[in-house]
Amino acid sequence: MDKARENSSPRLHLRVTPTAEWKLRSGHPWLYAESILEQNRPGEVGELAVIYDRYNNFLAIGLFDPGSPLRVRVLLVGKAQRIDSAWLRGRLLAAIERRDGLFDAQTTGYRLINGESDGWPGLVLDRYASTLVLKVYTAAWLPWLAEITPLLQEELSPEGVILRLSRNIQPLALSRFQLSDGQVLAGPALDGRVIFLETGLNFEADVLRGQKTGFFLDQRENRRRVESLAQGRRVLNAFSFSGGFSVYAARGGAAAVTDLDISAHALDSARRNFALNQSNPAVASCRHEAVQADAFDWLKEHPATEFDLIILDPPSMARRESERARAIQAYAQLLRQARTWLSSEGILVAASCSAHVSAMEFFETVRQTARKSGRRFEEIDTTGHPPDHPAAFPEANYLKSVYLRFEAGK
Ligand code: SAH
Repeated sequence: MDKARENSSPRLHLRVTPTAEWKLRSGHPWLYAESILEQNRPGEVGELAVIYDRYNNFLAIGLFDPGSPLRVRVLLVGKAQRIDSAWLRGRLLAAIERRDGLFDAQTTGYRLINGESDGWPGLVLDRYASTLVLKVYTAAWLPWLAEITPLLQEELSPEGVILRLSRNIQPLALSRFQLSDGQVLAGPALDGRVIFLETGLNFEADVLRGQKTGFFLDQRENRRRVESLAQGRRVLNAFSFSGGFSVYAARGGAAAVTDLDISAHALDSARRNFALNQSNPAVASCRHEAVQADAFDWLKEHPATEFDLIILDPPSMARRESERARAIQAYAQLLRQARTWLSSEGILVAASCSAHVSAMEFFETVRQTARKSGRRFEEIDTTGHPPDHPAAFPEANYLKSVYLRFEAGK
């Protein structure tokens, strides 16, 4: 079963530092190369590595990747189990069951497997109507795909399965496994974007080339919330991507929505998403504008326009720990600029998707910047991960949002 292992070679065994041992035992799913004290032989990408504790007892088993500092992604801890097709099927069924009852027929786009937090380290599976998108963030899964694809077909009966690869593993995937980003693993070739439903609204996902797996499924709950706040408001959706927040705001009765994004491609998609929902009278009567610009510059330079609801959902500004402080400053700057655009009694929705900035730190930054503006405000809510994106360890917990409603006058 262990495809990556040469039949003749012994099982790959590791011994690790006491700290790493403790971390693994407490459920952290990553083992870094520097924590490995002993290794019985060099390992192959994707083979199973068995980790023993200092007393020579079985500790964990995981997927080995000699090319990554994150050397082992843990599959299980505690009691040894045989990792085979039946085991993988069990993990898949557990993830499916976990989403049982979360979505009705009005929502056909959602996450089925959220990496480590669903027991599939470095692997994501999203459903868009009858298309499945499997996104792989570690080369260690590549030799397993031939095993996983039939499981997905048997358990989920999709029309197609698309493979997406994180950028850093694309060269190896091609040279070693003849796999490429956007490849069709099962089903007919796709001739365009996939249309799916979210809360009864139609959206397109560019599953072959789009960011993440084609859509930001993680913002669904916030989009629903925005719909409930949008009645009669002029909405600015900054960092709009394909306009998800805007279509919801329009259905919620917004007077006008402006999508602001640096990418023309994203804004074209936003226009199409609006067009896809014209059968809804509220969407049809909402004025929609798409502005292609750098949001930082546009907010700074543009003459004063007023908005009654501003959504800020920038890409991660801290991709590593060393960028954390600067990212917080940049966000505060963005907030100060956005605040000058917000009408009296305007609502601000600020989201952050950087795992390096904690929820507490982010919320405090937003509150402090709002306090410094001198205007009174009420904090309506803070939100985190949606239920189909569970986060079982600190590094997985990236998404947080805060809602502020400003009061009239000073
Ligand atoms: N809110 C979106 C997801 C945002 S993803 C949703 O719910 O679907 C971040 C978006 O920010 C991307 O579309 C990217 O093109 C855009 N972006 C990145 N840097 C930008 C900048 N400086 N100004 C404006 N948009 C930017």
